[in-house]
Amino acid sequence: MSDIYLEVNLHNLYYNLSKIRKELNQHTMIMAVVKGNAYGHGSIEISKALSQEIDYLGVGLLNEGVELRTNGVKAPIFLMGPTDDFETVYSNNITISICSITQLEKLIEWTNTNKKEIKFHIKVETGMNRFGINYDQMEKVKFLCENSSYSILEGVYSHFATTYKNNKKHVQKQKDKFDKYIEFFNQYNNKIYYHIANSENAIDYKEAHYNMVRIGNALYGPCNSKKNIGLLKIANLKARVVYTKKVMAGENIGYGNNYKSKNEMNIGIISMGFYSGLGLIKKPLGSKFSSVTIYYLKEIYRYLFKNKTVIYYKGRPLDILGKPNMQYTIIDLSKIKEIQENLEVEIKVSPIFVQDNIKRTYISEVKS
Ligand SMILES: *Cc1c(COP(=O)(O)O)cnc(C)c1O
Repeated sequence: MSDIYLEVNLHNLYYNLSKIRKELNQHTMIMAVVKGNAYGHGSIEISKALSQEIDYLGVGLLNEGVELRTNGVKAPIFLMGPTDDFETVYSNNITISICSITQLEKLIEWTNTNKKEIKFHIKVETGMNRFGINYDQMEKVKFLCENSSYSILEGVYSHFATTYKNNKKHVQKQKDKFDKYIEFFNQYNNKIYYHIANSENAIDYKEAHYNMVRIGNALYGPCNSKKNIGLLKIANLKARVVYTKKVMAGENIGYGNNYKSKNEMNIGIISMGFYSGLGLIKKPLGSKFSSVTIYYLKEIYRYLFKNKTVIYYKGRPLDILGKPNMQYTIIDLSKIKEIQENLEVEIKVSPIFVQDNIKRTYISEVKS
């Protein structure tokens, strides 16, 4: 038995997927985004669980896609970031993003030379200015695509910089720009996949569905959409109390002498500290790296200075005594009447902050 593990409920994952599907038209395809170890939930197991249910799996880095293939994932995989390692892309059957003319030229050269097919989606610029080719380059893109029989244009896509809920105008402006690209490509190819919406915008802004949506955080729990579609949290971090003891009144507990017992207390230790993510309570909803970083720093600050409870036993909050250490944390068990061996507590922390070396376990049957 592990001292600490993230328990992932696949039943809730399927439930969330069905709630999301209800928001879409019958023919809208779903790309399930499993980058970042499936937002901490374990990309291999999540991908296998979803393979039969979705149209594409979306990864951010080439090695994430390779890892899925190596572990037997058969579903179509789409790489959202740039790459020019076409050999690896080809041998792992991954569909790639083309984010620049140079990259497109390299792809065409490689596929023509090797006489091997690679499918790709063009990433177009609509107002986020991360990856993406500008509209004035589209004639060039079209020309290159028409002269390559091994590089297969399958899709055209973009990414919203914000949510419909927070900035409707900007989202609409990006959609209008995206429509111009669609008009352009429709003139000569009517079989292209178009996609731009992530979780929140897929839920709140139906006009942005096109033929595919890319769903990340909504699969894993409640997201930041305006409309509440009843998504469920799918993971809980659980820890076994590995050591307990009684402490007399007036004793110091933990580093730094910043906690002194007022009465006789029962204390316990769990083997999780800030190294594994404890103290980083909740991730910001959304996918922007900067907002994640700011939130992360704020949470550390809040945690260290206010000592907010994040540990629960059967729904009852337990105090953390002193600060979490690197790998251990001391908690107050005085409230618990009978302290048994293998007592298990629940820790409220976003899976995204739970170190990858912490075991993930999966529940797939319904609990009665
Ligand atoms: C992460 C990501 C998504 C998924 O975003 P969510 O807000 O988590 O649904 C979609 N598209 C791209 C390009 C991404 O990088």
